[in-house]
Amino acid sequence: MKKSSRDLLRKLAATNKKPYIQWIRDELTEHDVRVHRWGEFNWDETYYAYFDSRRVFIPAPQCKYSMLIALHEVGHIVKGERLYAYLAEYQAEKWAISTGAKKYGIVSKKYESSARDYVYQHLLEDVVFRQLPLTKIKKNVLKWIGVTTRKIRKDALRLCAKIREEISTDLDLGVEAALSGPRHKKATKE
Ligand SMILES: [Zn+2]
Repeated sequence: MKKSSRDLLRKLAATNKKPYIQWIRDELTEHDVRVHRWGEFNWDETYYAYFDSRRVFIPAPQCKYSMLIALHEVGHIVKGERLYAYLAEYQAEKWAISTGAKKYGIVSKKYESSARDYVYQHLLEDVVFRQLPLTKIKKNVLKWIGVTTRKIRKDALRLCAKIREEISTDLDLGVEAALSGPRHKKATKE
């Protein structure tokens, strides 16, 4: 383990009110998942699960929310779902939320509500970009998010319109750039 990771874990373990780091370590061991990198919990950060190497990039958990995020990444490896993004995210969220609650008494309404939004965004993207038919969407997922196919259709069409607008704007910019000739390359350090 890198010294920076070790220092971070030591610092958090000393200040944590609950043994979050030990708990996540227990889950990692139980499911044979390794840490690619520990990060400091940050709202703007994107954490990852690498299926083939069974590794995760997770925040070193210091609160309920970051513990659930760390569990979510482990959940991806445990569940192994990769076909559709919405299903992969749904299963990881369900696993994280239920493992957190059952084994560690961690419940966060804020996390659960953002988890539903998160799965919904992936669902819309699957519909728009990966031709997921509305009739094939799993009913239990719809129920969990609390959304109807009617709303999905509406939101998917809205997303399509937005993309269409972005693409046509890009095309306009592309034509302008072509007419104005080659742009200067960014200065590089010698
Ligand atoms: Zn995920």
